[in-house]
Amino acid sequence: MSTSENQSQSDISPETDSDAENILSVRNLVKFFPITSGILSRVVGHVHAVDDVTFDIPRGKTIGVVGESGCGKTTLGRTILRLSEPTSGEIYFEGENIAQMSLRRFRRVRREMQIVFQDPYASLNPRMMVKNILREPMLVHKTMRKRQINNYILRVMREVGLDLEHLNRFPHEFSGGQRQRVCIARALVLNPHFVVLDEPTASVDVSVQARVLNLLKRLQQLRNLTYMFISHDLSVVTHMSDVVMVMYLGKILEIGPKRIFTLKSAEVHPYTLALGSALPIPDPLYEKKQIILRGDVPNPANPPPGCRFHTRCPEARQICAEKVPELKKTEASHYISCHFRE
Ligand code: SF4
Repeated sequence: MSTSENQSQSDISPETDSDAENILSVRNLVKFFPITSGILSRVVGHVHAVDDVTFDIPRGKTIGVVGESGCGKTTLGRTILRLSEPTSGEIYFEGENIAQMSLRRFRRVRREMQIVFQDPYASLNPRMMVKNILREPMLVHKTMRKRQINNYILRVMREVGLDLEHLNRFPHEFSGGQRQRVCIARALVLNPHFVVLDEPTASVDVSVQARVLNLLKRLQQLRNLTYMFISHDLSVVTHMSDVVMVMYLGKILEIGPKRIFTLKSAEVHPYTLALGSALPIPDPLYEKKQIILRGDVPNPANPPPGCRFHTRCPEARQICAEKVPELKKTEASHYISCHFRE
């Protein structure tokens, strides 16, 4: 990411509380996937999934990550956890650069960084009972003695709203909401400090969604957790987050307050404005003008030059196709990457 001369990389922080310590600082993170061709699998290009991304997350807060499918938000979460190795860049977790760490040393840090996946059914082993699903990470990481494990599992089960009787069941015996609670319990048994929530409510219905979201909020307060909440549902992100980060074609276009989707047009990035215009207003008398973006998201293997958004931006001008806009601070805790927002 390019940064302005008067805006150093270390100043780029979505902090909501200037005194809050950053649990995670990402600097110039890049994740490219090679495209291979031919019998020798020659590399003929790269998919620019995450491209030069810099941001901070203060401890105990939630950063919401939004954007259309394929914008790189899930890859960003997975790369931060090194489920996908970064191509380049730095990831500081509690002060240590985990991007450069050996896998042996990273194993110790790994238990403090967990993930809840989008599809609870696909992410649970169908052949394992819940008690074994929850016990396995604790045995692998040797976090406590075997005789203490059962008591701790019961405590975590109660925290996520599951009963003792659920321990001896298999994943297929649960509803979607209960399965997601098992996934949350599995993420919590290692007592993490930071959790990536990758569309955790995308596969459950609306009433269950509200209960899972409230559970996540309650657990955050109880355990002082820091969340990275990835979703394409703007209402859910607004409800859950302290700070919102908008991504497009692997780049950060904006980092701002949770009310970002209700700000005036001159105060937000044109892409955020278009996303916000699709948010329904619960007032039948209020007529909202929806901004329809032309065209499709460009190919991430061949992203457009200049501003990544210029091929679809209603405000694009000549300079937008020639020069990459910097992510500039426009007000406290608000950063926008656009030539025409100050
Ligand atoms: Fe639109 Fe240009 Fe701003 Fe990019 S830099 S968002 S193309 S006005």
